[in-house]
Amino acid sequence: MDTKKDKDNSHSHSHSHSHSHSHSHSHSHDDHHSLLPTDPELRVKAIETLLLSKGLIDSETLDELIDTYENKIGPQNGAKVVAKAWVDSDYKKRLLEDATSAIRELSYQGRQGENMVVVENTPEIHNVIVCTLCSCYPWPVLGIPPTWYKSDEYRSRTVREPRKVLSEFGVKVDDEIQVKVWDSTAELRYLVLPMRPEGTENMNEDELAKLVTRNSMIGTGLAENIK
Ligand code: FE
Repeated sequence: MDTKKDKDNSHSHSHSHSHSHSHSHSHSHDDHHSLLPTDPELRVKAIETLLLSKGLIDSETLDELIDTYENKIGPQNGAKVVAKAWVDSDYKKRLLEDATSAIRELSYQGRQGENMVVVENTPEIHNVIVCTLCSCYPWPVLGIPPTWYKSDEYRSRTVREPRKVLSEFGVKVDDEIQVKVWDSTAELRYLVLPMRPEGTENMNEDELAKLVTRNSMIGTGLAENIK
């Protein structure tokens, strides 16, 4: 939990700075923020080094903790939201109309997820999310963002050449399918509702949730087919 909290704090600090120049996001600018180091990576690294050197945590445990938030705990929440939307059309309607409330119905809420918007993939539209300025990401449903999501390359290229980026993730989007790129902000976080794979008509919610990958909810992947 501490790891999450530390990262969370450094994230919001970075916002006050990196969004302040040429972007439409509105952010508050607390003066005391200027006294803190601006680079969140540096802050995290400092905390990590301290924990390791004090022997409070070993690097293996730390990696495991980060992996858990990045790949396990977080995305599982989002997967349950998606699976519920696949089996329950009323829930899906609520989710697309007011994602924050619909997600809260499943008790997923909190920092970095106060205002959620869910965008639905259809045979005509493929959605992908990015934060062009930093790494805004819906924590309560996806956990902490993967490293590539925060990279300069992903952030700049996803807007410029989304189809090419998607193909590098192994997602081939046909020319007739529209690609929509959603730029997350501190105020608004997006989640992609991937298409339900074919042949899953008889699967229940729990089984379906296992098909929902983290990347399918970012848009850089599709829900898995049944093995
Ligand atoms: Fe951001």
